Amino acid sequence: MTQVTDAPSLDDPWTVPTTYWHRLEDGRVQCDVCPRACRLHEGQRGLCFVRGRVADQVVLTSYGRSSGFCVDPVEKKPLNHFLPGTPVLSFGTAGCMTSGTSSSRP
Ligand code: SF4
Repeated sequence: MTQVTDAPSLDDPWTVPTTYWHRLEDGRVQCDVCPRACRLHEGQRGLCFVRGRVADQVVLTSYGRSSGFCVDPVEKKPLNHFLPGTPVLSFGTAGCMTSGTSSSRP
């Protein structure tokens, strides 16, 4: 976990409360979104850096913020035999939940 000086704020329209977390007996909150299971004190961000603890809850700071758009052939996607030969719009946000540990690429 990372302590940051530019802590996210719920006043930021791109920062939204989340629901998949729980409170621990030691006062930290644990994010339950991915296997990293970050346990956060107030003001800390998770390993993905896009979730963190603000106002005693886990928030997402990348809501609605795309980091890239691309039109790809559908064959690049994990969609078996779905409309072969057609393009598909891909987009994503910043923040990696797995640090590449489960990537399908070598
Ligand atoms: S890396 Fe991010 S999504 Fe995963 S548990 Fe930590 S804060 Fe949650």
